[in-house]
Amino acid sequence: MSSAYRPYRSIDRRLCRQIMVGNVPVGGDAPISVQTMTNSLTTDIAATRAQIDAAAEAGADIVRVSCPDEASTVALKEICAGSPVPIVADIHFHYRRAIEAAAAGAACLRINPGNIGKQDRVREVIKAARDHGCSMRIGVNAGSLEKHLLDKYAEPCPEALVESALDHARILQDNDFHEFKISVKASDVFLAVAAYQQLADAIDCPLHIGITEAGGLRAGTIKSAIGLGNLLWAGIGDTIRVSLSADPTEEVKAAYEMLKSLGLRRRGVTVISCPSCARQQFDVIKTVEVIEDRLAHIDLPISVSIIGCVVNGPGEARETDIGLTGGGKDTHQIYVSGMADHRLSNGDIVEHVVEMVEAKAEAIRVAQKAEAAETADKELPKKMKA
Ligand code: SF4
Repeated sequence: MSSAYRPYRSIDRRLCRQIMVGNVPVGGDAPISVQTMTNSLTTDIAATRAQIDAAAEAGADIVRVSCPDEASTVALKEICAGSPVPIVADIHFHYRRAIEAAAAGAACLRINPGNIGKQDRVREVIKAARDHGCSMRIGVNAGSLEKHLLDKYAEPCPEALVESALDHARILQDNDFHEFKISVKASDVFLAVAAYQQLADAIDCPLHIGITEAGGLRAGTIKSAIGLGNLLWAGIGDTIRVSLSADPTEEVKAAYEMLKSLGLRRRGVTVISCPSCARQQFDVIKTVEVIEDRLAHIDLPISVSIIGCVVNGPGEARETDIGLTGGGKDTHQIYVSGMADHRLSNGDIVEHVVEMVEAKAEAIRVAQKAEAAETADKELPKKMKA
């Protein structure tokens, strides 16, 4: 639904520069990109590539890979070459790894220039980034703030994180390098959110947002949703990573759910379902579980309501592409684009809804192809004239 008709749904995104991470634009008017990170040994190329492929399949736009040693940057070359999405090389301690990663095909280097050391080393890394078309991410973390800032502020606080970020940024700016984004992460949501709010006002580069070390799947997702939801709702954040002690694909799924909840990205099937109660006319929980699983492969944005009875079913179905409302006498109502369409009986629910959503996805795909062909037809005479 357009926010023009429903201003209470509007989010005004913070204006900022746009940079490129490979072929993915970050910042400006680009969609908020979703990132995750592999946790396999980078030297295990097959395992790392499998994780990248799975993350990309789940919708990741960008994947980060650690490069702790030279063997990892050697492996990175093969990993980048076969990757369906741009790769960010995560560099912590040694500037040479950054130079090697840039040469290996990384689209972005996650490195803090203030930690590189001598000026000529900084210049070498920036030159490598320029030569290979790499952008950079400055990644400030409350857990590894510089000693002089801890001495100055006594503890990690928003001002310390922002000062650290701006110090690192100045080094790149002084070298006329502006293709960077920044993160100021903390595991404490209050600290992270306050730091990002201050940073958003202090610099015009894109912001990579995340709540670091957020925890396991459930607790970490909730904590991240509170912190990142707060920022995204305020228009802050150009690329997002949900840090979970869980499989990287879970991070991607959690990120999308956050973005979808705020209408910032639409991808895959969104299921609206009731919690169920004694009024339910079919087993709502089981049905939703199976339908979500069966439709996980759909990447086109389609909304489905699965509601146990007529109390809320027709109302929710009005707002979704396909709706199911539990009715009486073992039959249930199916809605299409908000209108009552046909009824079906108990045993058929899952198969029927899955088939309908798959058919809808196919129809969207065909329409998109036809539209693309029509646009290409219109563009061709213009190109020939030119
Ligand atoms: S929609 Fe019906 S079945 Fe679902 S929770 Fe509400 S009253 Fe219960």
